[in-house]
Amino acid sequence: MRMSGGAAGSFVPKPVEDPEAVPVVEAPWPVREKKVCMCHRAFLAAGSLMTLLLLACFVLGRDSASSVAWLQIDVAKLTGMNNGTAGLTTNAPHGRDDLLGGLLPAGMDRRSCRSWYESWRYYKYFPYAASPYLQRKLRAYEARHRRCAPGTPLYAKSLEQLRSGRSADGMECTYVVWLPFDGLGNRMLSMVSGFLYALLTERIFLAALPPDSADLFCEPFPGTTWRLPVDHDFPIKDLVPQGQHIDKSYTRLLDAKVVGPDANATAGVPAYVYLSMGWQLKDPLFFCGEHQLVLAKVNWLLLYSDLYFAQSLYAVAEFQDELRRLFPAKESVSHLLSRYLFHPTNPVWSLTTRYYRTYLASAKRRIGVQIRMFSYGSIPADDMYAQILSCSRQEHILPETDGGGGGASDNGVLATRSDDNGDGSNSTAILVASLYADYYERLRSRYYEHAAKGGETVAVFQPSHEERQATDNLAHNQRALAEIYLLSFSEELLISGRSTFGYVSSNLAGVRPTILLTAYGHKVPEPPCRRAVSMEPCNLTPPLGVECRGKPVDKEDLARHLRVCEDSNDSVKFFD
Ligand code: GDP
Repeated sequence: MRMSGGAAGSFVPKPVEDPEAVPVVEAPWPVREKKVCMCHRAFLAAGSLMTLLLLACFVLGRDSASSVAWLQIDVAKLTGMNNGTAGLTTNAPHGRDDLLGGLLPAGMDRRSCRSWYESWRYYKYFPYAASPYLQRKLRAYEARHRRCAPGTPLYAKSLEQLRSGRSADGMECTYVVWLPFDGLGNRMLSMVSGFLYALLTERIFLAALPPDSADLFCEPFPGTTWRLPVDHDFPIKDLVPQGQHIDKSYTRLLDAKVVGPDANATAGVPAYVYLSMGWQLKDPLFFCGEHQLVLAKVNWLLLYSDLYFAQSLYAVAEFQDELRRLFPAKESVSHLLSRYLFHPTNPVWSLTTRYYRTYLASAKRRIGVQIRMFSYGSIPADDMYAQILSCSRQEHILPETDGGGGGASDNGVLATRSDDNGDGSNSTAILVASLYADYYERLRSRYYEHAAKGGETVAVFQPSHEERQATDNLAHNQRALAEIYLLSFSEELLISGRSTFGYVSSNLAGVRPTILLTAYGHKVPEPPCRRAVSMEPCNLTPPLGVECRGKPVDKEDLARHLRVCEDSNDSVKFFD
């Protein structure tokens, strides 16, 4: 097991990629920027009209004493609501059909994208149906996408406009272009966020997919493409930025008076603007209604983000009502949009389903365990393993054994699972996803050396241990995506805090995971984990302290639907 170095110190840590991670393929696409710990986030100066965001108002703006109390209350509420995943993520019949209850459009060719029609057979839960309003909105989006996609006359017109260097009023097609940033989980979450933004603003969502992602996902909109053709004719050179300080990002253009109320009117609105919305969140003003009015005039927005930011869109007054109509349950936002948008290509689907059928299908129950270690929260493997077991005991996740065999924390009085039916059909498959083989080997030994209580048969599997992140390699990403989907076919999930890989698995699964807390300062956390209040991913960098001057947002409603993430104090997530 490799352990990352680095100290967290006293500052607020951000996810750090494994320092050993080296891109395998280099090409026109820039190497992903490494995340580094960030000291204090200094956003905008205080003192203007209204504090925009949620936490500033409801959660994090409180002083530490009251915020602790607030958190305690919420954690109690959380425990009450989540007495096991099965309580709320039910096997309801809606969505149990090959178009997921109207979430997916008909018309995709069955042979070219098998996962499109087959995924419902593998998912265990269908907790939320797409509202009729969401279904109508998606069908309208698909029709608009077909009119405006690359290859259409309207796209050619928009490209001409882009070449002219100026945005024009009244263009039928305007775009948000997704740019790759960070690992697969990060990318999937920023795609979901970007697509949601496109839905809200009636833009067309295009993805600048690099070669490392060329064969991961099927086209999500039948009869058209979401791929931005980035050839030598494309007017923007060096499209994907090398870092989060981007010359043409919104805030910099605003400061330079190129856009916004102080801009020179005769110069016109630029043809495109970057949105630097990565973990450093250079463009927090994006989440203010008055800035959305400015951005609405820009024909092409280029989204450079590794975040899930749907919650922060909900804090924009102009979007709040529409989001309510689209998603009556806030917990369903990412769940539904991920199942809508992502369909593994046939090669990835073959990897996934072959593995599932061979190793997991015959079990009565599948538990996914995803272990990710960031350098700022690294601890020795023994401690991590002990944390996994202690969390499992706390939340009754992994089958207990008849004695010892897993280190100190395997001892003690353990709850016996009560689902033994005595006929040998009481079997559990544990799927381990990790870059390393270590935890798989320990868990496998545990159930090899000791019988599970109650006669349960337990088998442990790990599809790969890649040893290092290699996001620039297509085959590596295909295996990673297969593992995300294998995890999402579990009945129960134990995931690592602050890992987008785990977040995506859970929201695809429709499961509220148990989240292993991060070992900040390299200290084993206590408690070891928390059960998530919702299956929604966490926004790890919300726009804290941003001052907006636009229409006021319904703060009470925000307080009802946004809360601090279980695994990160200065972050937010949706719940109901
Ligand atoms: P995060 O860094 O945990 O938020 O997740 P990301 O998915 O954004 O980036 C981590 C990347 O490391 C993944 O996309 C994979 O390339 C690789 N990786 C991390 N954990 C695993 C794992 O359990 N299995 C596989 N196959 N790859 C992993």
